[in-house]
Amino acid sequence: MTQRTNPCHPESVRVAASHQAVARQIARELAAIAATGMVLPGSITTRRTRCGRDNCACHADPPRLHGPYWQWTRKIAARTVCRWLSPAQREDYQAWIDNDRRLRDLLGQLEELGAAAFDADPRWQREPAPARQRNRQTST
Ligand SMILES: [Zn+2]
Repeated sequence: MTQRTNPCHPESVRVAASHQAVARQIARELAAIAATGMVLPGSITTRRTRCGRDNCACHADPPRLHGPYWQWTRKIAARTVCRWLSPAQREDYQAWIDNDRRLRDLLGQLEELGAAAFDADPRWQREPAPARQRNRQTST
C-alpha cells in the first residue's frame, strides 16, 4: 500500500502506520478467503415438516416431525431463492456461507478504519464548511 499525496494539496490525509498495519492484516485474511473460492451468499436453515398422511406420526400429539432437512436461501433482487440440500451439501456449504459472512465483516472493518481516519482529519478543526463548495479540479 502506498501513501498518496496530492501535489496540489500537500496536506492530503496520510494513512497512519497503525491504520495501515490493521488494513494489511485485514487484506491478508480477505485474500486467503478469496483464494479458496469457497464463498456463497445466503443462509442455510433447518426445516422439520409435516406430510400429507393423516395417520403419520407427524400429525400425532405431540407430533414427531419429518427431518431435519436443510434449505439454502438467498434473496436475489426482491425474490427469495431456495434449494434443498443433502446432509453432505449442508456440511460443505455452511463453510462457504461462513466465509461470505467473514468477507463482509472484514470489509466493514476496513470501512470503519476509513471512517475513523476521515473523522480524525485535523482539517475539520480549521476549515469551516463552506456555504457552497467551490468546484475543485481533481487530477488523476
Ligand atoms: Zn408425516
